[in-house]
Amino acid sequence: MRKPIIAANWKMNMDTVTGYELMDDMLDELDAIEDVEVVICPPFILLESFAELFDGTGLYLGAQDMFWEERGAYTGEISPLMLRGMCDYVIVGHSERRQYFGETDETVRRKVDAALAYELKPIVCVGENLQQNEAGETLEVIHRQVTAAFYEMDNAKVPDCVIAYEPIWAIGTGRPATGEGANQVIGAIRQKILELHGEDAAYAMRIQYGGSVNEGNIAEFISQPEIDGALVGGASLNAEQFVRIVAITNEVKRSR
Ligand code: PEP
Repeated sequence: MRKPIIAANWKMNMDTVTGYELMDDMLDELDAIEDVEVVICPPFILLESFAELFDGTGLYLGAQDMFWEERGAYTGEISPLMLRGMCDYVIVGHSERRQYFGETDETVRRKVDAALAYELKPIVCVGENLQQNEAGETLEVIHRQVTAAFYEMDNAKVPDCVIAYEPIWAIGTGRPATGEGANQVIGAIRQKILELHGEDAAYAMRIQYGGSVNEGNIAEFISQPEIDGALVGGASLNAEQFVRIVAITNEVKRSR
């Protein structure tokens, strides 16, 4: 049985004061929910203080991105070496990075490899845009992105990775996919992992849905057999909402 995983992507929101307050408002309640892995991905400026705050709790810390080189003349970048030991996870290939910062399947792969080399678990984001969706190209896009991120990876490393299926048209739009639709695509992602890495790796790997998840629709996603959790943007900035999302995930998965 795969442990459900809910990750909060705060994006470029919150500062050192408001971020700390938000975390303080939900930490105890999140920590009390033991059967869901909760990963908080705040901006870089909060990582160090959250690492201290989470010490001794069951919460996990994630970065929203990183570069693949260890050190050097890369102004503005954060390296896997800097994150190792501080973070557990790192989001890689989010569609906003692909769209606004020129990330490609190749750079995403370099980041996935770097994360694993530095004991960070990558949350690899994949997903089609609206045009591709309407043209019926969803599976083609997904297969290309998943293959680029995972081909020839050591099978034993695959379960350390998480995939977030995030249709771009559903991110921040208030127009989520349907549970059934997301389940189908996630099933196809698992099938691709099976082809690349075999049954054990495919069965063990956790695959999330992301895109306008909130407390009103999380049950629809999490009750699907292929969906192991969610990557949550907007709704993770509200303590009450986010705690509800995690609590509902716990209830639904326990009842199955
Ligand atoms: C995201 O950015 O990963 C995301 C899923 O955002 P939202 O929940 O706001 O759609």
